[in-house]
Amino acid sequence: MGQEVAPSYLTAEDREALLGLGKKLREVYDAMLEAYRQSKGKEQGAKAALEIHDQAQAFIEDVRGVLGDIEDLKDVLLESLKELSRQREKGEVAAKRIAGGGSMVSKLVLCGKHCNGCPHGPYLYRVVKSGGKLHWIYLGKD
Ligand SMILES: [Zn+2]
Repeated sequence: MGQEVAPSYLTAEDREALLGLGKKLREVYDAMLEAYRQSKGKEQGAKAALEIHDQAQAFIEDVRGVLGDIEDLKDVLLESLKELSRQREKGEVAAKRIAGGGSMVSKLVLCGKHCNGCPHGPYLYRVVKSGGKLHWIYLGKD
């Protein structure tokens, strides 16, 4: 796995790979049937069976790789879900009216850089409305 946090699993390419594996399985069984149909002696049959066994082993390795990716995907999704609920809990904006107008707001901030520390804060702001617009005045770390 690289540095990227975003999961890159089960893209259209992955789905194609899975379909390809299914097709490969059918081909292995077709080859197996054909080999037995054509084998004329016990030795020839055994040789064909060994070859098919090797092909099946390679196929099983491929499937194992895909299943491993799917397991990783599950972990990434579970981790993301946990992170999301953690952020939701922490990210709830706390606001209260203050004397002299405006509100005091404590909130978490996403820097938008896909950094590992997001969300940042909580930071404290004084929010005042003037000229029909909200102005966020940064007051420091909460
Ligand atoms: Zn960040």
